[in-house]
Amino acid sequence: MSFRSHMDLALAEARAAAARGEVPVGAVVSAPGGAVVATAGNRTRERADPTAHAEILALREACRAAGSERLPGYALTVTLEPCPMCAAAIAAARIARLYYGAEDPKSGGVAHGPRIFAHPQAHHAPEVYGGIAAEEAEALLRAFFAGLR
Ligand SMILES: [Zn+2]
Repeated sequence: MSFRSHMDLALAEARAAAARGEVPVGAVVSAPGGAVVATAGNRTRERADPTAHAEILALREACRAAGSERLPGYALTVTLEPCPMCAAAIAAARIARLYYGAEDPKSGGVAHGPRIFAHPQAHHAPEVYGGIAAEEAEALLRAFFAGLR
């Protein structure tokens, strides 16, 4: 029920993504009452789809389940700071709260780079809580990229 247990679920999705050879990022969407409605990990390689980030896949599943392109009151928990594409999708979905793990100075779009939610063009900005279980998320990413070298 807590965002920590949602982060534990997201971390499990990230580990599963790493096992598939994908960049280890996992995401969870939860309904206003806290119930988990979607979980996903990165599948860009498997699907040959540059948009198949964990957040996008989880949002698609949650929207399908809700029968709506908007998820007011919902929360999204993800192991890594969302990229600009995912941040824009989070804004479009009207997600109420975003919880993320590791910071991403290289490709992030929330606290770094374009800072999507700070743009006047962002139609909606969620409450943002970063740095949750960041060490675990960072360790997963480091191990994955070390294995690639
Ligand atoms: Zn993304």
